[in-house]
Amino acid sequence: MVGTLTLVAGTARCAVNDNTPGIRIRVDDYAHVSPGILNGAQREAARILAKAGLRAEWLDCSLKNESAADPCSEPLQPTEIVLRLISEAKNNKYQDSVFGFAVVPLVASAYVNYAVRSAQRDNAEFEIPVILGSVIAHEIGHLLLGLNSHSESGIMQKQWERHQIRQALTGNLLFTIEQGQSMQAEIRKRAQNPPH
Ligand SMILES: [Zn+2]
Repeated sequence: MVGTLTLVAGTARCAVNDNTPGIRIRVDDYAHVSPGILNGAQREAARILAKAGLRAEWLDCSLKNESAADPCSEPLQPTEIVLRLISEAKNNKYQDSVFGFAVVPLVASAYVNYAVRSAQRDNAEFEIPVILGSVIAHEIGHLLLGLNSHSESGIMQKQWERHQIRQALTGNLLFTIEQGQSMQAEIRKRAQNPPH
């Protein structure tokens, strides 16, 4: 009973409730990001997505799981997407910016080096998780908003200068209200009609 009561209290405090559309993100970490940075980046991306009305759940698919019940070996579920963390641009074919690219509708790639360079320019390596989390949220945004989803304001801006990085570091580089509504609708649609 105590557990039940704790859960209810936690739900009541949280802005994200059970009706919030959720996505599960399978993470393939080719860049070997340290666990501390990865956790911080995922927490920040989840915070940004929660502000847009989405619940994010992470599934680490970098470690080969020998057990028969490895969820990473299952076919993608309707509301699952793939996030690849990579060091550098291997080619420019899909590149839409310096910090990552997305192959709509299912696979997003984020350049870890972009976050590292941005933070090092400020001589502030502790900024890496927040910048990386913002990049991850941007690329997930591409998957859910479709092609040509850059915008003049907010996290979907094509280029980030100092101003946008500062906004990210103060927690204010976010999706617009309209983008949040579109992404919620897209996830609800996928739950009914998978995109693949
Ligand atoms: Zn972009």
